[in-house]
Amino acid sequence: MGKIISVCIPKGGVGKTTTAVNLAASMAIAEKRTLLIDADPFGASAIALGFTQNKIRAGISDIFNHSKSINYTIHNTDIKFLNFIPANINSIRLDEKFSKSSENKSILKNSIRSIKQNYDYIIIDCPPTLRGITTNALTSSNSILIPIKCGHLSLEAVDRLIQYINWIKETSNSELEIEGIVLTMYERNSKVTEISEKELKLKYKSYLLNTVIPVSNLLNEATFYGKPLILYKINSVGALSYLDLAYEIITKNEKITEKIK
Ligand code: ATP
Ligand code: MG
Repeated sequence: MGKIISVCIPKGGVGKTTTAVNLAASMAIAEKRTLLIDADPFGASAIALGFTQNKIRAGISDIFNHSKSINYTIHNTDIKFLNFIPANINSIRLDEKFSKSSENKSILKNSIRSIKQNYDYIIIDCPPTLRGITTNALTSSNSILIPIKCGHLSLEAVDRLIQYINWIKETSNSELEIEGIVLTMYERNSKVTEISEKELKLKYKSYLLNTVIPVSNLLNEATFYGKPLILYKINSVGALSYLDLAYEIITKNEKITEKIK
């Protein structure tokens, strides 16, 4: 199948990386063959999976430089069904070069083509910017998962993202869809949450996923140990919520595949 989902919104600190890492880990625990690609030069996904510099042999920058095959950039992780491509942009010079070459929107898409059939899901962690590498990620993707931090509602960021999606659809990927909006750092019974949800429902109700990810400091804590939460505290509410999110997305996609058959 090889469904490619970018986790994306032009807003920093809303849980993109946490969602990409923990969703990918949960899908892999469910024995879906999963590849996580870190498309954010900041490299936070690598930290969250316990990849220190000396463990990274190649990554995204090698794909953009055409210096290594994509197969060479794929790393095994502590989870059997989870593979990982790190960002490995570790100098300003390289980052500049990388931004330039990513003007070609289809470099990532062309590379992924050769390995897509090896996976059930490919999850891409995007940076909070809408250009270069994000354009490449969305050109490669079947859909976008949009994380929104509760109480930090940015309808303006969602509106900008929707405009950008429309531009990508017109110029490089007419089939790009919205997988859904997932509320992160959700606080039940809070006035701010209530207001955020109401506003979102007014405009984007059809995209809202049923699963919400509650505030859980363990999600932050687990990254210090270089583990997705499911490997750190499997019975925590954060780990279970990401399993729920994986279940919701997997069942939704399996229903669609059944219908097509
Ligand atoms: P950036 O735009 O900088 O890449 P991001 O959108 O990827 O940020 P994250 O790095 O995933 O956001 O999360 C920002 C911070 O919030 C991190 O410290 C993370 O551990 C914490 N965090 C994420 N999700 C939760 C949660 N559900 N509960 C508590 N803390 C969380
Ligand atoms: Mg991030």
